[in-house]
Amino acid sequence: MQDYSQLYINGQWISSSGQQTFEVINPATEEVCANVVMGTKQDVDQAVIAATAAFKTWSKTSSEYRAQMIHQLVNKLREYRHELAQVMSLSMGMPLHLAGEVQVDDQIDILETYVKRTQLMDEIKTIGNAKILKQPIGVCALISPWNYPLNQLVGKMAPALAAGCTMIVKPSEQTSLQDFIVAKACDEIGLPKGVFNLVPGSGPEVGAALSAHPDIQLISFTGSTRAGIHIAQNAAQNVKRVVQELGGKSPLIIDKGCDIEAAVQYGMDDVLINTGQTCTAYSRWLVHTDIAQAVIALAKQKAEAVVIGSGPDAFMGPMVSQAQQQRVLNYIERGIKEGAMLVTGGLEKPAGIDKGFYVSPTIFANVSNDMVIAREEIFGPVICIIEYDTIEQAIELANDTPYGLAAAVYAKDKTLGFDVAKHIDAGMVYVNGGRYNIEAPFGGMKQSGNGREFGDEGLHEYVELKAIHVDEYD
Ligand code: NAD
Repeated sequence: MQDYSQLYINGQWISSSGQQTFEVINPATEEVCANVVMGTKQDVDQAVIAATAAFKTWSKTSSEYRAQMIHQLVNKLREYRHELAQVMSLSMGMPLHLAGEVQVDDQIDILETYVKRTQLMDEIKTIGNAKILKQPIGVCALISPWNYPLNQLVGKMAPALAAGCTMIVKPSEQTSLQDFIVAKACDEIGLPKGVFNLVPGSGPEVGAALSAHPDIQLISFTGSTRAGIHIAQNAAQNVKRVVQELGGKSPLIIDKGCDIEAAVQYGMDDVLINTGQTCTAYSRWLVHTDIAQAVIALAKQKAEAVVIGSGPDAFMGPMVSQAQQQRVLNYIERGIKEGAMLVTGGLEKPAGIDKGFYVSPTIFANVSNDMVIAREEIFGPVICIIEYDTIEQAIELANDTPYGLAAAVYAKDKTLGFDVAKHIDAGMVYVNGGRYNIEAPFGGMKQSGNGREFGDEGLHEYVELKAIHVDEYD
């Protein structure tokens, strides 16, 4: 059994300067599954000292050495696959059989893509008499939410390690358990001390101390737009770089002439896979009026057939916490009051479930894009169906949102789908069920954030450029 009572700083497990712990409640059983240490501002200061000292040597290591370290970490985490899946299933509710693939395997694969990317740091671009060199930005703070906890950690630590940065990691209070396993893995592969430091704790204490710390050069934050704004304001005091991956209200355009069955299945799987707690979830379905009735009927049938629970057949688990459950129920109530048509789901718990923070898959039709349920991120298994008459109107509706994270289009063919995709203001657009590519940049426009994770672009966030001007002479 992993011990969650100590912080990992400077290559050592140490006690916090404070006394507080956080009770992690398993959302499927409503029982306490772990008690986790909560760090303090003093702990952050200690971690920054360690990371600053480690940066002096880690930043100068060869790209081959860092590649070797990342490769060893990949192998070690694969050894811990079951443990990782288990703790994430316990703390955030995804059924265990899905957590292995979705929450672990895909994320270790992403980490592996950075083995080759350490070499990017050696590239020198020549522009006339200037040589453009890259250097790691420095000590980084990595702050994550609870919905895909390992994904969000890897999306930040992989490029940080590859670039030669050192880091202080602050997971979400509810889902820090996998970060302890990652810290243990870093320790076991012999990652130099101080490169990876783990300080769990609250946003207002540890998160705020990291954001304002003068010796941290970059904050990479994934979470709500609300917290992202706070962090950026704090970070502005000492001109830190802030990379933000924030919320979304992503549209799925289902156009006439498309494969309706495929489109509805795709949209339903996407929204329900993590109980709607996916930043890119297609929570607004923009459907051509001519096919709206067929889409609604099919969506209702599929939503009602979803297996809910935590067992080996379940596709949809509980919400991460009681607070999140209540937040989603409030939005459902709001949708009913706003006059949207409740097609299925609603305020009742799914049939046969009496324990756990579950919400029924819920579909609203006759939604207009100015309703609160169409504008705000609900972060639950709730789909809003909005009808349109022309594809131009669909594009306008797709872009009529403060967010711009992801979007999807199902059209009669890929050429039309691609054409529509070009006009949507979102960082990622998927056409006719196009699969997610882990080598592509991930991130949003407008209030969905700035900066990109994954791929080469993910590394660039951790890099400073230096132009050295040398005139030719002999
Ligand atoms: P949250 O913003 O409440 O918390 C995220 C993290 O920030 C946590 O670690 C929290 O402790 C910390 N935090 C909170 N307030 C802080 C503050 N004032 N200063 C510093 N740190 C602070 O978000 P959440 O509820 O954990 O996650 C859900 C949100 O994350 C949703 O809005 C979702 O869309 C977003 N998200 C975005 C992406 C993306 O890539 N764009 C991915 C996943 C989740």
